[in-house]
Amino acid sequence: MNDENLSAFYSSLLTNLQKKGRRSNDVAEAVNKYQGLVQKVKDHGDRLSALLVSKRRLTEKKSVERSVHAETSTGEATPDTKWPSSLVTKKIKYQYSTKQKYSVPARRYSGMDGAQSMSRRLQKHAVDPHTLDLDIHNCAFQVLHQIIQKTQPKPALPKDLADVFEEVTTKRAPPENLKKNEAMSSLQKISLYIRWVAMNLLYDDYMSLKENKDKTFPSASIMSLMWQSVEDMIVQAWAEHVIALKPKHISLHFDGIRVSKEVASNVESHIEECQEVIKEKTGFTVSIVRKTHGTFRELVAERGAADEESDFSAESEKATSSRKHSEDPEAPLVIDDGILRMLEDEVKTLLEQAKKPKHPVNGRHQCPGCPFRSFKERRRLRTHLEKYHVLKNQYVSSGTKQLKVILALYDHAASSQQTPSNLLQKSASLIRDSVKPPLPASNNLIDKQIRLIHDAAGPRYVNVCQLEDELHVRRVRNRYYTKAFGDLILKEAVLCYAQADELQHLCFIKVY
Ligand SMILES: [Zn+2]
Repeated sequence: MNDENLSAFYSSLLTNLQKKGRRSNDVAEAVNKYQGLVQKVKDHGDRLSALLVSKRRLTEKKSVERSVHAETSTGEATPDTKWPSSLVTKKIKYQYSTKQKYSVPARRYSGMDGAQSMSRRLQKHAVDPHTLDLDIHNCAFQVLHQIIQKTQPKPALPKDLADVFEEVTTKRAPPENLKKNEAMSSLQKISLYIRWVAMNLLYDDYMSLKENKDKTFPSASIMSLMWQSVEDMIVQAWAEHVIALKPKHISLHFDGIRVSKEVASNVESHIEECQEVIKEKTGFTVSIVRKTHGTFRELVAERGAADEESDFSAESEKATSSRKHSEDPEAPLVIDDGILRMLEDEVKTLLEQAKKPKHPVNGRHQCPGCPFRSFKERRRLRTHLEKYHVLKNQYVSSGTKQLKVILALYDHAASSQQTPSNLLQKSASLIRDSVKPPLPASNNLIDKQIRLIHDAAGPRYVNVCQLEDELHVRRVRNRYYTKAFGDLILKEAVLCYAQADELQHLCFIKVY
């Protein structure tokens, strides 16, 4: 039903576009996009039908011998006596792609009916209840880094680049300095070097790729081939180990494996065991993480529960509500005494720090409590802290929007049972990171130059000048949202059968 509606909707858009006759670049791009979407909806439907031929849920089994090509798939669903009636067993054949012949194996793919080809959403319903989804963390980087270590190509990667590479591959979060552009150019150099290594290690494959006209960027393809063939070796070793545990379900997902829960009563120790086996069999060190899948509705429910909790605890402590603002957007924003005291203390600390000698950055002393305000002389920074970060302004010198961020940070900390800290500095740096290009360093008030937009990844503030030309946001009264956010709502709308009141409720929660 839903996919028919979606298909019809996109197809009608297509017809309208094609009627226009003028095939400008924009129109051509839009046509391409909608054709892609129609195909996507169709594929999704086909996969669902392939699934529903048997029964509502499935488990699958596979054999992982290297001779996987030769294995004939039965493709038939046979009831598995040990599972509750709705689960069926399926045997799935995994094959290497035959589009391009390589000297090493690359990735293996299942057919249309394997769990691998299901969308995340479909996996959640079909296999999530009884399986664990385990993935190699940061697989491409981890593997590439070790390939370079093991093959020790000459000449070696220069020391400074090797350090950056090491940092990118071992740290979970991107390092602070990577946000700046110089570091990006290091990464590009590293990538160039790795592609060169890959061309040398897989020289014949590279040459045959170069003759293939479909491959527009052979050196990048050869780099992917290099790490994916190691990835395949790792997954092979991993899958053999897991199969020995006789799971009722195992499916391969490129850099991860889905396995039925009963083989891993203790997930942590199962993961450790797998990591050790992989290290032993392949010599590669990987870290495996468990992925959990939440639907939009579940996430909203979780957040809603957390909000209720924090409301409740706030009430029980007889604190004055910190969220008066959400009821009436026009009302002046007043924050509670507890938060005010925290901000007061933080300003005191900042003032102490400002008294100590410190080198300016790019010739200026940045106010840590403001997103963009900075000064040539440290003396003026002290005056600013004393004069503007005061009770009258609720200790925030940039205006109401930073205060809103402070309240959100406070509520977030409270609902995740953490002690809120450095609210002024954290809110300033959040705005500093999301508002690009930066605002002038000479103004205290910034409210008029930034806008809150809603994106699929969450709300953020942006520079007003970005709204028109770069972000393509839409506006509903004084609310801005991106296309990604709109798509998210559309998808969820289709999923909850467009029940308007439920959807309104969801949007409301998401936006606030
Ligand atoms: Zn300041």
